[in-house]
Amino acid sequence: MLKKKIKKLLIGTNNLGKLREIQDLLPKYIKIYSTSDFNLNSPKEDGLTFEENSLIKSKYFSKKSNLPCLADDSGIEIDILDKKPGIYSARWAGTKKNFKNAIKKVFKELSKKDKNWKKKKIKARFVCSLSIYNVNQKIASVTAKVEGFISNKPKGFNGFGYDPIFIPINKKKTFGEMRPFQKYRIDHRFKAYQKIKKFL
Ligand code: IMP
Repeated sequence: MLKKKIKKLLIGTNNLGKLREIQDLLPKYIKIYSTSDFNLNSPKEDGLTFEENSLIKSKYFSKKSNLPCLADDSGIEIDILDKKPGIYSARWAGTKKNFKNAIKKVFKELSKKDKNWKKKKIKARFVCSLSIYNVNQKIASVTAKVEGFISNKPKGFNGFGYDPIFIPINKKKTFGEMRPFQKYRIDHRFKAYQKIKKFL
């Protein structure tokens, strides 16, 4: 029997940076909808892991729109901060989603832990869980990571969120200094997409 392909898909995010990146990954034959097409607010993300939060979003948006939904939950984990901000990455930017403040908070927390942190290699990773829900049915969920380090100052103006302070392993530039296509082919969202695309 031929596998039924998804032809219409809602991207379950209100974050423009993620929307653009996920749109670029998807095959062109899929008609993509965004949460703004349905005037949908985000659900409360009260899961304890990236995977739980991504499932909360894909289920909620799929039920509201009656379309299959691909949702992501992602964030940055910094080892010496006990993996914070982790699932609280968006919340560290406050209600105004000011990532300059979130980055300041990261630097402040790092200085509290170790005042010489700028001279050290601070291990961190971006994590992404992607999930697909079709109204009441969970189709799939996957998680992927990209390892790296925290830059001792913000660099670059591309991307979004914590991109200016994350240097992926074996690279010299931050995600903020890379062109979108350079970042997209090595990052956590791309790796998660490689795992989930067979369910589309
Ligand atoms: P949420 O998944 O919408 O709850 O938010 C995750 C937060 O993690 C985003 O708002 C970003 O700040 C951060 N984040 C996730 N992925 C990336 C990325 O690729 N670059 C920079 N920041 C990211």
